[in-house]
Amino acid sequence: EDEVLIIGSVLDLRDKPVSKVMTPIQDVFTLSMDAILDKETVDKILFHGYSRIPISAADNKAEFIGMLLVKQLITYDVDDALPVRHFNLSALPTISSDTSCLDILNFFQEGKSMQKHPTTDMSLTIPTLVLYIGHLALISSNPGGVGGALGVLTLEDVIEELIGEEIIDE
Ligand code: ADP
Repeated sequence: EDEVLIIGSVLDLRDKPVSKVMTPIQDVFTLSMDAILDKETVDKILFHGYSRIPISAADNKAEFIGMLLVKQLITYDVDDALPVRHFNLSALPTISSDTSCLDILNFFQEGKSMQKHPTTDMSLTIPTLVLYIGHLALISSNPGGVGGALGVLTLEDVIEELIGEEIIDE
């Protein structure tokens, strides 16, 4: 039965750490807050095609201070050649790498930090999830501290996990 498969996939999320489904940091397109947004860099951003870019501290590539929303560049003139720090950066929440995929769903839904204990709340509905497509979290071995970034995770990574398992199971 489809219902059984779906419930099974959701239950599997409880046992799967986010570190298993994140995009590893070496594959993440990032910029330093000192990077100059000239034509070359903006072309690179467009080439990669991501909508959110983690921004590292000027003096420490391993420390992330926020993220740049690429849509902010729609009205930007590359001839101004401004540094990234000129732009309003959005917060980049840091999540511990042992957080479960189910807990991260709740995090994206609530937009605030999770309880310590694995949640059993499965009341997420598709409309509420859709609201949070667009959120990016930094996965870290050292949340709250500096450094330790292991990767990034979006809702899409978790949803793909749900759908992927369903397809394989069938
Ligand atoms: P986007 O809107 O940028 O396409 P999605 O939320 O659709 O982002 O995520 C698509 C995939 O891209 C996910 O696997 C996510 O982990 C990854 N991703 C998101 N931002 C970046 C980035 N800056 N660099 C590398 N991978 C990223």
